[in-house]
Amino acid sequence: MVRAAIPAAVARPGTALYPGLHRAIDDLLTGNECAGIPRRSPEQVIARVNRRWYGEHADTRSGADYRGCDRCTTPGCEAPRRTPENPEGCDRIINRNSWLAAAILQQDCPDPGCEDGVIMSGGDCRACRVRAQERRAAARAAAEAEERLRAEAAAREATAASVAGRAEAEASEEFRFRMLLGRRGTYGAMLDHQVERHMTAWRERHPDPAGPPLALDAARRGRFTDEEPDHDGPADEPGPEEDGPEEDGPEEAGSWGPASSPSAEYQAWREQRAQARLASLGG
Ligand SMILES: [Zn+2]
Ligand SMILES: [Zn+2]
Repeated sequence: MVRAAIPAAVARPGTALYPGLHRAIDDLLTGNECAGIPRRSPEQVIARVNRRWYGEHADTRSGADYRGCDRCTTPGCEAPRRTPENPEGCDRIINRNSWLAAAILQQDCPDPGCEDGVIMSGGDCRACRVRAQERRAAARAAAEAEERLRAEAAAREATAASVAGRAEAEASEEFRFRMLLGRRGTYGAMLDHQVERHMTAWRERHPDPAGPPLALDAARRGRFTDEEPDHDGPADEPGPEEDGPEEDGPEEAGSWGPASSPSAEYQAWREQRAQARLASLGG
């Protein structure tokens, strides 16, 4: 009876069973006290065979075209098998007979009288119910942790993007303002002073998304909060408008638009500024 229920892919009808599989079925039917296997009815054994073979997609996993890992080839797979101890292993079934023999003997419930969640003498298995609850809780916790990690990574990425965007916007603003004052005839120390004052106000309106460099900011505020920038340029200045805080619009850190492609003049200035900063850092 049980023999007839063995999938044809494992043993063609009418052929003898592979001895290991035959032994496993006998152990289930007659019980094996030494191995802690209680006896089962033929119906229970058949149900167990079917749950294992079809429930674990063994027909697919034993096909020559199945790829359980990147080392799988048509003739087989040399990679370590997937086991409870090695969940990363390849789940391709190399030998249908020995796989099914091991699968039907596998008792994942600590209660040997449990037949996949149902106690053979009657009633649901409490151990299985508890384990199912634990599995669901663990899966929920894992999903939550994954979601949290994903959100954190996205936040880090957004911060990095806005830090880079702010640095670019800051340099671009300094260049714009420097050129504006230069065209109005300001130069030398007065130019540097006015640019610095303008940029200090700009930085206060555009907080660093990576966090403020506190000491530096405080020092700047101490030096410059006494006066508002006053740039009395020619009224017919056609260039970019002088911008007080009120003219700057609702710009926010992290929302830097795509910069128009920078001019060669601007790029040369940035290069020069970066080198000057390096030199001053080097002492
Ligand atoms: Zn493989
Ligand atoms: Zn159980």
